Amino acid sequence: MSEAVGGIHISSGDLLRDHQARGTELGSMARSYMQQGLLVPDNVIIGMIEDRIGAPDATSGYVLDGFPRTLEQARALEEALSKQSQGIDKVVNIQVSDPELINRLGGRLICRQCQQPYHEVNSPPAKDGVCDACGGELYQREDDTSEAVLRRIQVYAEQTAPLIDFYKEKGNLVEVDGEGTIEGVREYLLTLVG
Ligand SMILES: [Zn+2]
Repeated sequence: MSEAVGGIHISSGDLLRDHQARGTELGSMARSYMQQGLLVPDNVIIGMIEDRIGAPDATSGYVLDGFPRTLEQARALEEALSKQSQGIDKVVNIQVSDPELINRLGGRLICRQCQQPYHEVNSPPAKDGVCDACGGELYQREDDTSEAVLRRIQVYAEQTAPLIDFYKEKGNLVEVDGEGTIEGVREYLLTLVG
């Protein structure tokens, strides 16, 4: 996506995991929330995102993935962007039903070395627990256990779903059916942003 629209991909999840891997104070604060499937507090995330979108490689645009997740984050983002005379072009809401989310996230495995994702049922590795690409060890992220996935769905309904109306009113919301294949969803997204 990000390459196709000429910008960089900024994932709040990647930023959080990066901070944890480097053992920053922010990272260990975030970990305790993520382990329980809770949202990391807004001020922590906002600071991280502002810092990242201000970096030199972000000047030609970016796709924000997993952010904003609350109204407070959305408002803070508007404020930060208007200070830099920037704005949001489009907001994409990819809709996936709860049972499908549970199925996808509940079976997800990630390579410790190269971060390649697998799925126990939909895209298993050739050899159990081993990455096809690099031979690294596969693991299940703490926030992908079934208990944490259910909690994430509940948190989404309470805290993130209100963003749909927020951006609808602003006129830049695009809704996408996310039940199809990854390629199908990707193609459709590209026609929207292209
Ligand atoms: Zn790997």
